[in-house]
Amino acid sequence: MFGSMSMNMRLLGEYLKVIGGSGCLNSLVYARGCRQDFDSWEKLGASGWGYNDVLPYFKKSENNTNARYAATSSHHQGGPMTVSDTAPVTKLPTVVMDAVRELGYKEKDINDGEMLGFMRAQTTVSQDGRRHHTANAFLHPAENRKNLTIRANSVACKILFDGLRAVGVKYRSRFTDTEVYANKEIILCAGTIASSQLLMLSGVGPRNHLENLGISVIADLPVGKNLQDHLILVPMRISGPETLPPEWLSSVGVEAVGFIKTGTDPDPKWPDIQLHCQIGYYHRGPNENRFLNFSEMFAKPLQHDISFEERAKKSGLALMVMICRPKSVGEIRLRTTNPFDHPIIDPQYLSHPSDVRTMIEGCRFSKKMTETKAFKKYGAEAEYYNFPNCSHPFDSDGYWEYVVRHASTSVYHTVGTCKMGAVNDPTAVVDSSLRGCASLSSGVIENICLEYG
Ligand SMILES: Cc1cc2nc3c(=O)[nH]c(=O)nc-3n(C[C@H](O)[C@H](O)[C@H](O)COP(=O)(O)OP(=O)(O)OC[C@H]3O[C@@H](n4cnc5c(N)ncnc54)[C@H](O)[C@@H]3O)c2cc1C
Repeated sequence: MFGSMSMNMRLLGEYLKVIGGSGCLNSLVYARGCRQDFDSWEKLGASGWGYNDVLPYFKKSENNTNARYAATSSHHQGGPMTVSDTAPVTKLPTVVMDAVRELGYKEKDINDGEMLGFMRAQTTVSQDGRRHHTANAFLHPAENRKNLTIRANSVACKILFDGLRAVGVKYRSRFTDTEVYANKEIILCAGTIASSQLLMLSGVGPRNHLENLGISVIADLPVGKNLQDHLILVPMRISGPETLPPEWLSSVGVEAVGFIKTGTDPDPKWPDIQLHCQIGYYHRGPNENRFLNFSEMFAKPLQHDISFEERAKKSGLALMVMICRPKSVGEIRLRTTNPFDHPIIDPQYLSHPSDVRTMIEGCRFSKKMTETKAFKKYGAEAEYYNFPNCSHPFDSDGYWEYVVRHASTSVYHTVGTCKMGAVNDPTAVVDSSLRGCASLSSGVIENICLEYG
C-alpha cells in the first residue's frame, strides 16, 4: 500500500508477480525520456549513460513499424520489441494536434531526444495487436538456450555474500528453499520496490534500519532512499462526441501524448509535464471496467462529488496531467525480515511545494486546451470538479491545489531506490558500471549488478 501524508488519500500499489513484470499490464506508451534527462544523470556521475550513449541501445531493441520514424537517425526497424502507432480509433489525435498548435506547441516525434511537443502515441504493440513486453520480446525468444534456465513460481529471498562478494541467491519454490551459486555474477532486476527490499533483507542498506530489524550489515548504503514516482491527475471532466467503440480493445486508449514546459527550470526545452490524451474516461461500459480499472483509479477519490455518477455515464475524454521530474522524494523500508511481507512504501507525494506548483500549471494547460477552437469545434466541453469541502474560488491556486491533492494518483513509475552515481556520491547505491555498490568506505561489493531502477 502506498501512503503519503502530503496527499489526502492513500493509493494502492502494484506488486506484480509475472514473468515480464509490469510490462504485462502497463499502458504501453513508448516514451524514452529526453536528452536532458540522460545527460543530467551523466553529469551526476552516471558516466557512459548520456543520451548519445544509450541511443544505440534504444534503437537496437526497437522494431518501429512506422516507416517514417524508422527512416530517421533516432529509430530502427528489425529489433525484438515492436513499436507501432496507436490504432486510429477516434478523431481525438487530430483535434489534439490542432489544439496544441493554437497554444504554440508542434506535432513531432517525442522520442527523438527533444520531447517538447505532441504526437499520436506510439506503443509497444505488435502489428497483430499484441502487447510487447520484456518477456515476449526478449526472454521467450531466448528460452531454449542451453545456458538459460527460467524458474517460474520462485521467489528470491536473499542474496548470499562471501564477505563483500555476492556469490549466490537463496530462493523459495513450492515451499522449498534452494541456494544457487554464480559462476560469474548476479544481476538483480526485481523492480524498484522489490530490488531494494531484497538488498536490505540481504544486509545491504541503511545501517540503523537494518540493525533495528536484527539484520547483519554487509554494506551501509542508502538502499530504498530516493524513491520517486510520477503522479497523474485527471483535472476536469470533458464530455465529447466520441466514446469507446467496441474495437477499442485493440487500442490502449491513450490516443495522443505530449510534453510541455511549465516550470522555472532554466532549460526551456526540458519538459516537466506529460499529457496523456485519452478517449473514454466517462464511459463506464463493460470494456472499461473489465480491462482498465479507471473507475477505481481515478473516480473513486471523487465520489464525494455528488454529480459524478450521472456525469460518468456520458462519453468523453481525458487530458491526464503527469509530472515528469518530481522533487518529492520518499523511501522504501522493510516492515519485517520476512521476504513474503510487503515492505513499507512511503512515497511522500507532493511533499515538495514545487511539485504542487508544476501540477497546477499542468492543470491550467489542460484547461487552455479545452478552450481552443479545435476543442470547441470537436464539441468537447469541460466541467470542473465541485468539491463540497473546497472553499477556494474556481481557478485560483488554492482550488487547483485542492484538486491536485485530492484527485492525483500514482501512475506506477517508481524509480530511484538503488541510485546510480559516482563512487564518492553518498546518495548512490551503484556505480556507473551497475556493480560494486558505490561509496562504501569499507570497500566495494563485487559481483552484483543492479538494473538501474
Ligand atoms: C499500470 C502501469 C502502467 C504503466 N504504464 C507505462 C507506460 O505506458 N509506458 C512506460 O514506459 N511505462 C509504464 N509503466 C512503467 C513500466 O511498466 C515499468 O517502469 C517497468 O515495467 C519496470 O520494469 P522493471 O523490470 O524495472 O520492473 P518490473 O516490471 O516490476 O519487473 C520486476 C520483475 O521482478 C519480479 N520479482 C520481484 N521480486 C521478486 C523476487 N523476490 N523473486 C523473484 N522475482 C521477483 C516480478 O515478478 C517482476 O517480474 C507502467 C506501470 C504500471 C504498473
